[in-house]
Amino acid sequence: MTRPGRRSSEPGQAALQLTLPFFQPPPPPPPAGRSINLEGELIGYWLRRTKRRTIGFTIDERGLGVTIPRWVTKAETEAAIREKSRWITRQLARWREQSEQRSQLATRWEAGGRVRVFGTERVLALDEQARGVTLDGDRIVVGMSPEAGAERLRNRVHGWLQEQARAYFASRVPVFSARLGKAPQRWALSSARTRWGSCTRDGSIRLNWRLIHFRTDVIDYVIAHEIAHLRELNHSARFWATVSDLFPDFETVRAELRAASDTSAAD
Ligand SMILES: [Zn+2]
Repeated sequence: MTRPGRRSSEPGQAALQLTLPFFQPPPPPPPAGRSINLEGELIGYWLRRTKRRTIGFTIDERGLGVTIPRWVTKAETEAAIREKSRWITRQLARWREQSEQRSQLATRWEAGGRVRVFGTERVLALDEQARGVTLDGDRIVVGMSPEAGAERLRNRVHGWLQEQARAYFASRVPVFSARLGKAPQRWALSSARTRWGSCTRDGSIRLNWRLIHFRTDVIDYVIAHEIAHLRELNHSARFWATVSDLFPDFETVRAELRAASDTSAAD
């Protein structure tokens, strides 16, 4: 489906592959820290000197980071932190809450453990008499002895989830390809830990089977996104216009995917 000569007409496209990342690998541990008493709580922070003229703040899993111009003193830094203290304590609380949610969302691989399939939470049930893996109401029934162990259970259920994902992708890739008027050369499942999908210059698309945890509209957005790259191998305004043609409500869904990305790599 790729037209010869297409590359040379688009010299600006240097990337061989474009990916849709989901979670960022944890940043390196902070450099030597300091701490400050904020609203009765001792808050640790790390410092980075910069050539910029303003003081900047970041909050992530490392806690509070402060970027300061080279000439700023410790007293000035602390004054700036105090001025921002409400925002800082609110953001730190939000991060703590999210990391708690992350640990709760990780599947327990045993009877009663929870797995989301197409956005709906299902409960794992082990039944030695059952065959294969089947959906029964809100249960995922796995034909396996309750003594089988977490790792075997996880492998079996992951295999089943991958089949579900493959079947869903197989039904949707042609739909979006038809809308675009161009199909991928091939598509495949991926199990990348850091991206939902990717598209290469030669028209190969990869879709992460872990998308199976999301509602179908979220999955559709990722498929539409990668299919749109068949026409625009970039993230330009023209690319987003193409995504919008394929999937008009993509902005809502994209925001949801971003918000959920941190918690979805847990299993
Ligand atoms: Zn992209």
